[in-house]
Amino acid sequence: MTASAGKIREVLASRRLDHVHYAIRDLAVLADEVSARGLEVLPLNIGDPLRFDFRTPPHMIEAVVRAMRDGLDGYAPSLGVPEAIAAARADAERHGIRNIQSVFVTAGVSEAVDLTFTALLNPGENVLTPSPEYPLYSAVLAKNGAAFNAYRLDEANGWQPDLEDLSSRISSQTRALLVINPNNPTGAIYSRSTLESIAEIARRHNLLIFADEVYDKLILDGDQEHTSIAALAPDLPVLTFNGLSKAYLVPGWRVGWTVVSGPAPALEPYVAGIHKLLRARLCSNHPPQYAVRPALEGPQDHLPEVRRKLRSRRDLTMQWCSSTPRVSCVKPLGAFYAFPRLDIPDSDDDFVRHLLLEKQVFVVNGSGFGQPPGTRHIRIVFLADEPALRRAYHALTGFMHEHYG
Ligand code: PLP
Repeated sequence: MTASAGKIREVLASRRLDHVHYAIRDLAVLADEVSARGLEVLPLNIGDPLRFDFRTPPHMIEAVVRAMRDGLDGYAPSLGVPEAIAAARADAERHGIRNIQSVFVTAGVSEAVDLTFTALLNPGENVLTPSPEYPLYSAVLAKNGAAFNAYRLDEANGWQPDLEDLSSRISSQTRALLVINPNNPTGAIYSRSTLESIAEIARRHNLLIFADEVYDKLILDGDQEHTSIAALAPDLPVLTFNGLSKAYLVPGWRVGWTVVSGPAPALEPYVAGIHKLLRARLCSNHPPQYAVRPALEGPQDHLPEVRRKLRSRRDLTMQWCSSTPRVSCVKPLGAFYAFPRLDIPDSDDDFVRHLLLEKQVFVVNGSGFGQPPGTRHIRIVFLADEPALRRAYHALTGFMHEHYG
């Protein structure tokens, strides 16, 4: 051993990571400490239905097992297996998306975001992303050295995008805007007219639209419907993200896809760039891709049951919000998230940490979703069954009473 062995320089992470925050997983370290003390943590923090009483449709499992038994365990084509691509394309067409230029499969929507943002952005350019946001987006932007440019979602207007704010933030460096619909963390779904206005802004300013629609089949009430922004704007370049993680109950399989729609000549160089990156990473997980067609075209009977459970858990959540002093909440209409506002003197970060330590209820602070400083929200994932949710809300009420009277 040489004398310098004890002085090996610290290996620093890239400064680009200074802007990467993922509160959902970061707080999990504290939750693990609480669990290690032998206490049971009520996990209202993570959007994984398989942690609760939701099970993968058996015909999807059979399709993947069959693919493995049939020896389909090698690399897949870089864009995905043809039957999965065809099924994703047909599903997009059923949602009214036309002018489709490319469809490709990735390891979840997460990889699609990473890849398509990387293929688009030069340093210093920006994408308009919502605030509050789903933190994957700011992480990918930070990784790309892209500037942050967040537009406001308006709580007073059912968390719909604030279109004036959105327009005012467009600069010559803005390449695209992101719409998450149905939304994480607010549970909002966007009206047709809001989407038309967003498309008009994109049209006027020559912006690409990213549409994250991974919750499109989780619309909780019969009188509501989901509209794909790409279906309203076949003349515009739109990338619509979707996947099997949420409505098809296999987040661990990592299956997502992107539907690129809009004018072919305008999209050509960008699509070529995306395809280049798709080839560079070889392929997405191969066997799980054989679940896409059975999922989208096979029996759908698990979906009404999923929505029924989510509706009654949403209603229980709203009952807690409306009957608890200092709490108010816009009713979530899609996905499985509620984003109540707390009228408290402490920061939302302190609130969630103390709640976890004192009551073992695990929710995530709104500031973890890029909320502006000074606002105080928490995100509740209402996937847990009703007895667990009741216990959590009882504990939350007790916590608020003890701290704020
Ligand atoms: N987009 C949104 C809005 C999400 O809420 C999530 C997961 O919670 C994802 C994307 C990630 O999806 P995937 O599991 O397909 O990577």
